Amino acid sequence: MEKITSDDIRFADLAEKRFNKRFTGKPEYFYLPESTQDVVAAVQEAVNAQKRIVVRSGGHCLEGFVSDPSVQILIDMSLMNGISYDAERSAFEVQAGATVGETYRRLFLGWGVVLPAGEHPNIGIGGHVLGGAFGFLCREYGLAADHLYAIELVAVNASGKAHSIIATREENDPNRDLWWAHTGGGGGNFGIVTRYWLRSLRSNGSDPTTALPQAPKSITTFRVSWDWNNFDKTLFSQLAQNFGTWAQKNSDPESPYKKLFSLLFLNHRNIGKLEMKGVCTGAKALQLIDEHLASIADPLGLSYTREVEETAWLQFALNPFPELFQPGFDKVRTKIKDAFLRRPFTDDQIATMYKYLSNNEPVGGGLGMATYGGQVNAVMPGATASAQRDCILDVACNTGWGDPEDETASLNWVRNFYKDLFATSGGVPVPNEQTGGCVINHPDTDLTDPQWNQSGIPWQTLYYRDNYPRLQQVKQKWDPKNVFHHALSIGL
Ligand SMILES: Cc1cc2nc3c(=O)[nH]c(=O)nc-3n(C[C@H](O)[C@H](O)[C@H](O)COP(=O)(O)OP(=O)(O)OC[C@H]3O[C@@H](n4cnc5c(N)ncnc54)[C@H](O)[C@@H]3O)c2cc1C
Repeated sequence: MEKITSDDIRFADLAEKRFNKRFTGKPEYFYLPESTQDVVAAVQEAVNAQKRIVVRSGGHCLEGFVSDPSVQILIDMSLMNGISYDAERSAFEVQAGATVGETYRRLFLGWGVVLPAGEHPNIGIGGHVLGGAFGFLCREYGLAADHLYAIELVAVNASGKAHSIIATREENDPNRDLWWAHTGGGGGNFGIVTRYWLRSLRSNGSDPTTALPQAPKSITTFRVSWDWNNFDKTLFSQLAQNFGTWAQKNSDPESPYKKLFSLLFLNHRNIGKLEMKGVCTGAKALQLIDEHLASIADPLGLSYTREVEETAWLQFALNPFPELFQPGFDKVRTKIKDAFLRRPFTDDQIATMYKYLSNNEPVGGGLGMATYGGQVNAVMPGATASAQRDCILDVACNTGWGDPEDETASLNWVRNFYKDLFATSGGVPVPNEQTGGCVINHPDTDLTDPQWNQSGIPWQTLYYRDNYPRLQQVKQKWDPKNVFHHALSIGL
């Protein structure tokens, strides 16, 4: 396989491929494997030469796990992007280099089915599914990882030999724990996933059109926007409370609202508006959206703009809420600090939100709240490695900046905001009655730092709760030399 070094015309392009421009790596060279054997060869070469090797699929890592100056060889999975139906395993085979958008497209056009995965079409399937992966359809169909049937992994054994292995969720598969670790353990931990096989748990037949959920024919989107200037502390609090209360009432696995997924954007005042966006599927979509907004937006008594439209599924999936991913979005440097909630924010927390979001600091960002639960909560915490199965909201304090000079102010703002938001539990959302930890697909290295995590609860518990010891056992078995590691990787 060809080494792509700095004198190759492809090098600069490959070096630029990363969502979060906050981090920059300096690999000696890239590999673009086209087969599992290519990946085995590249990993063996790295082990023999004692060079640090890391894999990248879609490049959407929010931390610097891939764009890390200590990485010497970077495997880019882009050319392994095939999607087909494997009749032998009665499952869809998706190579790790496929994007989420391409997976939506091929599954829909080929078989009319859908994988309930993440929101941005450019995310790589490779680094996404193994972190759990939630999105617009998660309340109706669960996490992407809940539909994972098998993986193919390139790993390195105790003798330093690179090899490939297939692990399935079949009860009698001796490698079942390796499959399990890829249902929420996160990327860059055990080896390089080359292929995923997808099949829903309840699907046993050989008909591909029933192997995954049927895709919606159409999806109804809604957008609501308020002028920030019309909000005082009381109205702001009411909005945040209404959203939390709605999520608390309507996030059971069989909730009549499980087809509805909603986002509340509590933006910083600098951005000028507060917004809701969401989607709903099914014949009752308009009614459910009306009822949702009647519980959250209408009681404020403020005028707001409201747009509701029905879009064919694939058109939406390949370009969801284009205004969220505006030009310039791909030049951003960002910090996201994620938290799961089991209960709505308290009044004190909402007061903290108001303080940080209405102050005069010249920052861009806010606090996003996404509805969670529904069918995600139909799965037991230990059944997959995605332990958070009792949460109603996933929230994130976030900031973005273009000019490197704004980095310090932006980071200080978002870090202090998050720390104060969870002040009663040491600055982080420890698993307790109200909060439920964090999601590894939105990694945050601050959780390892005693300045920002004063809870006494290790970051591993925040991400994995009781599943961490089992993940460590998988790590010991499948990556005993810790070839695959980063700042938040599973320890030996
Ligand atoms: C704009 C944006 C929107 C997002 N939306 C969502 C969302 O809706 N839902 C959600 O759950 N998450 C979301 N995420 C988070 C996203 O799922 C994770 O960042 C995911 O890890 C990205 O995968 P990737 O392959 O694109 O990233 P990469 O940067 O390529 O990799 C991320 C990590 O996974 C590892 N990895 C990559 N490929 C493999 C592989 N083949 N085998 C083993 N390890 C691998 C990498 O080494 C790295 O540690 C979003 C992120 C962004 C930037």
